[in-house]
Amino acid sequence: MLYPNEYFNSVKDITIEFLEKNKIKGLIVDVDNTLINLERKMPAGVSDWAKNIQKKGIKICILSNSNKIDKVGSVAKIIEAPYIFFGKKPLKSGFLRAKEILKLNSKNIAVVGDQIFTDVIGANRCNMFSILVKPIEEKDYLITRLKRPIERFIIKRYERKKLK
Ligand SMILES: [Mg+2]
Repeated sequence: MLYPNEYFNSVKDITIEFLEKNKIKGLIVDVDNTLINLERKMPAGVSDWAKNIQKKGIKICILSNSNKIDKVGSVAKIIEAPYIFFGKKPLKSGFLRAKEILKLNSKNIAVVGDQIFTDVIGANRCNMFSILVKPIEEKDYLITRLKRPIERFIIKRYERKKLK
């Protein structure tokens, strides 16, 4: 439940080949520290990655826990994808709404995000593929910051398990 199916340094490392191999046809993507940093800056290459992957037939829906509609909406506009804000992850409701937008089965959806306690747990509860990415920056909102040491512990165990 706590482990992701896959762990990448950045969304940009998620390739079309990887998605096809795992039968993923749609992505539910987090915003804060996954697509933009806390200063709302999107790292170079991220929007190209998102547009490219959609051109290859992978659908994207943004799902953010942020209640800032202007922030989430402007990211969605840049990558040209629908969005849900105030998503209440890890509750299932936001993921199920995103699934309806994507019009796909859970097993063909991957959730992409930087937090175990919202993105990964939510994905696993909904039987979706979970992809954890390294946060864009170390800087975090306070509540998130408190969870990071536990996340690092889980990631370490996950990586050890993977090596076996
Ligand atoms: Mg995040």
